Amino acid sequence: MGVKKMKNKWIDISIPIRTGMVNWPGDPPVDIERVSDVRRGDSCTLSKIGMGSHTGTHIDAPRHFLAEGKPISQIPIEATVGTARVIEILDPESIKPEELSRHHLRRGERVLFKTLNSTRVWQTTRFVEDFVSISKEAADYLSSLKVKTIGVDYLSVSGFRDDSTFIHEALLRAGIWIIETLDLSQVKPGKYYLVCLPLKIDECDGAPARAVLRPV
Ligand SMILES: [Zn+2]
Repeated sequence: MGVKKMKNKWIDISIPIRTGMVNWPGDPPVDIERVSDVRRGDSCTLSKIGMGSHTGTHIDAPRHFLAEGKPISQIPIEATVGTARVIEILDPESIKPEELSRHHLRRGERVLFKTLNSTRVWQTTRFVEDFVSISKEAADYLSSLKVKTIGVDYLSVSGFRDDSTFIHEALLRAGIWIIETLDLSQVKPGKYYLVCLPLKIDECDGAPARAVLRPV
């Protein structure tokens, strides 16, 4: 394969949505039911999909934690479509300002964090409790920098035992759009073009999204 061809290759960084897939403990489970099927003699194949609004690869709207925050149906397209940087995080516990500062993040950037999660959490269908998440200090740091969008490679920006409210609120109040549950295992750190658009579910707190990257 030539260099040019590789350059134009899209990488799918979304998680497939399926019945029984991993979700945040307590969230509604995914249940996809085939209600008609051409293989059973029906005129078409059609499914009924039951799931939480934060299922699989998805975007958190400010409404998720802020009563007056924007719903997912009002996300600006440029929040999650445009150039983005994939940054490798080597800290096995959490994303911290000390490590982030080495990357000289700038206001308005879209940043996806490839942590050690990428090589371990997608090997299992069970919920991994000790995943790498964003520390309180890093949430404050990213908020003060006013990056546009962040993406993480597991189910939440905040850890399983952390203060989820503080971390989400700090980021959402700063106007940062949050993409959660990305699979960055096939992605090298660097600059990319990101396309990630959530379903336009009116007035909703979040919605599943398809996310793809192309090297630039
Ligand atoms: Zn979410």
